Amino acid sequence: MAKAVNCPCGEVISAETDDELVTLVQQHGKDVHNQAPSREDVLAMAHPAD
Ligand SMILES: [Zn+2]
Repeated sequence: MAKAVNCPCGEVISAETDDELVTLVQQHGKDVHNQAPSREDVLAMAHPAD
C-alpha cells in the first residue's frame, strides 16, 4: 500500500514502499530542513495514501 508523509512545511511526500518513503523523506529533511529523521520517525509520521 502506498504511504505518504505530510511534512510540517506543507510538502506531501508519497511512495509505494516503506523503504522508498524513508529515503525520500530523509532526503527532503536533509535538503530542506537540515534534519535527518530516523526510519522510525518517518514511519511514525506516515499514513496510507490514496
Ligand atoms: Zn518539509
